[in-house]
Amino acid sequence: MVKYIEIECKSALNKVDHGSFVCYDLNIYRGCIHQCKYCYALYSHKYLDSRNFFGEIFVKQNVVEKLEEKLSSKNWDNNNIINLGSVCDSYQCIEKKYKIMPEILRLLIKYKTPMMIFTKSDLILRDFDLIDKLSHITYVNISSTITTPNKSLASILEPNAVEPERRFNMLSEMKKTKADIGINIIPIMPMLTEDTIEALFKKSKELNLNHINIGSLIIKDECRKLYLNFIRTKFPNLYEKYLVLYKTPYLSVSYQQKIDKKISYLSNKYNINTKFSIYHKIKAYNKENMEQLFLF
Ligand code: SF4
Repeated sequence: MVKYIEIECKSALNKVDHGSFVCYDLNIYRGCIHQCKYCYALYSHKYLDSRNFFGEIFVKQNVVEKLEEKLSSKNWDNNNIINLGSVCDSYQCIEKKYKIMPEILRLLIKYKTPMMIFTKSDLILRDFDLIDKLSHITYVNISSTITTPNKSLASILEPNAVEPERRFNMLSEMKKTKADIGINIIPIMPMLTEDTIEALFKKSKELNLNHINIGSLIIKDECRKLYLNFIRTKFPNLYEKYLVLYKTPYLSVSYQQKIDKKISYLSNKYNINTKFSIYHKIKAYNKENMEQLFLF
């Protein structure tokens, strides 16, 4: 039974410096219903005094008001990109009830603020018109994590997320906006999802998606416990092999090189960008709009 806890946040945004670019994370929920076996965000619940990331979900009731305070302030530069769902999915099922996302999108439209969003849910289609409008005003990037196209494997790995085909259908609809649309094959799980990567490239090409983000599984702290327990229970034949490959939180160098080679081959074969830079896209977008402005 999931418990939903309404809280007040002090601020809506969290500035994150990625080195090549800075973005502002906005998580309207904390905790996530999808229950992915590789969830990298488990650690974040300790800041809320909870150990139950999947079972205690915090709802930031005043997040819209706090966001407007920030976006309307004189110091806000609306070239800053808002990153929605860096820690928790903004379109998990409780969003049907709270309907916070349409309010957030209206603010982004009002303040012409670019956004990137990650979701494993097709509930985002409910807000298609708002996202479409925003994408005609500023830069928008929508990505869905799809680790495998295999429905039964996905249902074990991500038990409460919608099936991969529905995520692809959602992205296909979203291609009708001006947003950049792509998938995250993150994490690639050695020996488990590796063989299905090519099918994801093929499907992305068919849908003419703009990019694929790639990343191998990283397992540390609570995530390591969760994932290795899962492997031991569901794929016991892989358990010892995982202990060898993951002596540290990161995949062994030689195995990573093998995956890199495969990705490079697939990227060339399907001609899909796997080195996508949001920062450069925003700069290019702004430049293009400025040039158009000077034409009139
Ligand atoms: S969607 Fe992301 S935050 Fe939610 S359970 Fe899966 S990995 Fe964790």
